[in-house]
Amino acid sequence: MAAGHVTVVGAGIVGVSSALWLQKAGFDVTIVEAGEVGEGASFGNAGNISPGAVVPYLIPGVLREAPGWLLKSDGPLAVRPGYFLKVLPWLRAAVKASTKEEAFKTSSAMRALHGGTFEAYETLTRGTDAATLIERCGQLYVSGKPHGALGSPLAQAMREVAGVRAIVLEEGDIYDAEPALARVFKSGVILPDNGRLKNPHQMVCTLAGEAQRNGAIIVRGKVTGFATNGTHVQGVIVNGEVQPADRVVIAAGAASGPLAAELGTKLPLEAERGYHITIENPGVAPRIPVTNSDAKFVASPMNMGLRLAGTAEFAGIESQPNWRRAKLLEEQARRMFPGVKLEKVTRWAGNRPSLPDGLPVLGVAPHYANAFFAFGNSHFGMTAGPVMGKLIAELVSGAKPSIDLEPFSPRRFR
Ligand SMILES: Cc1cc2nc3c(=O)[nH]c(=O)nc-3n(C[C@H](O)[C@H](O)[C@H](O)COP(=O)(O)OP(=O)(O)OC[C@H]3O[C@@H](n4cnc5c(N)ncnc54)[C@H](O)[C@@H]3O)c2cc1C
Repeated sequence: MAAGHVTVVGAGIVGVSSALWLQKAGFDVTIVEAGEVGEGASFGNAGNISPGAVVPYLIPGVLREAPGWLLKSDGPLAVRPGYFLKVLPWLRAAVKASTKEEAFKTSSAMRALHGGTFEAYETLTRGTDAATLIERCGQLYVSGKPHGALGSPLAQAMREVAGVRAIVLEEGDIYDAEPALARVFKSGVILPDNGRLKNPHQMVCTLAGEAQRNGAIIVRGKVTGFATNGTHVQGVIVNGEVQPADRVVIAAGAASGPLAAELGTKLPLEAERGYHITIENPGVAPRIPVTNSDAKFVASPMNMGLRLAGTAEFAGIESQPNWRRAKLLEEQARRMFPGVKLEKVTRWAGNRPSLPDGLPVLGVAPHYANAFFAFGNSHFGMTAGPVMGKLIAELVSGAKPSIDLEPFSPRRFR
């Protein structure tokens, strides 16, 4: 007999991973998706799978550079002029959360959440076509500055505390690690225990297909609210109609804020927009993902071409993309890979779900015992997604979570 029924809102990496782990725990699952499966942020990311991602995006050293980036129209961080006042409280909260002491706490929570990513992917993909999409190939970081690829002393200290291996390369060795690179880099570091997905969208769609084969129903529609009795959710409102629900998991990525607010919890969730270009037949063949530590983007070999993805822009979830930012990635591709052919280029923009302390919310909704929040993975959702799903299944089952969930509490912003 099934352990019960769960409605999951959102079919990105977090939603479909949750669905599969919930099925393993014996639950029947319905997924409600407003758009197409896997076409949110999970579609166009860089596909880096990083158990060694233990350095929060905003740490004191980075914050010192941030004002300079904001002044440059082509900098890695941008705020649309009309949006500055709206995002100011979020930025202030991010600064507050980025003291050295707080950053170390965040780092430790990141290690706990990201460390088991490959094992979680391997469990979910065993015996499926998606198993071949994962590669434990390492990741390379490069910089045009001597020592730039290593990151700040604080970043290095965080990796050391977490036991993340980082191999520093001599200048000449950078090109043995990645022969396709232009000879312009002065420092390089390999994180050998990280890896990549060859196609993040294909991963999410294959996992969603698996969930369906196991009996999940995928409903197309937008969840706009909930029917409740004041302490429990009794239904989700989809396209204006109430669909009965025993338990609900909110995994709607950057659009999760209003849904949490409907359940009485206001969270400072921002859409942090990133861009990519994907180059079909690029004429160059990098072997592993390379992060350009100066310009803050990743160049990833994928099964559909070479993808350059990154940059962070705060403009509001409803605003139109600024395609100039994607265009800048074409210039970066030329600088980084001599001879790259930019004849067939597609571009994309997507919203990272970001909370000011850089950690997601993962826990029981504060006012509703049968609702669960699983969103806010910011720059690391493809890494965290399958682990988030496992933790959600543990929470919904009433089992003891396999990591300490206190750092991810939805109550921490009050
Ligand atoms: C440029 C860029 C590069 C990145 N690179 C990496 C990387 O290399 N490695 C990494 O780990 N992470 C990376 N990320 C981050 C990662 O992509 C995200 O953190 C992750 O995809 C978030 O997954 P999600 O399932 O929470 O959200 P999403 O994938 O956005 O899924 C949410 C889903 O919910 C649906 N939805 C929303 N509202 C509703 C509603 N009301 N009703 C029903 N459905 C709804 C949406 O349509 C969507 O399909 C990158 C992000 C960007 C933008």
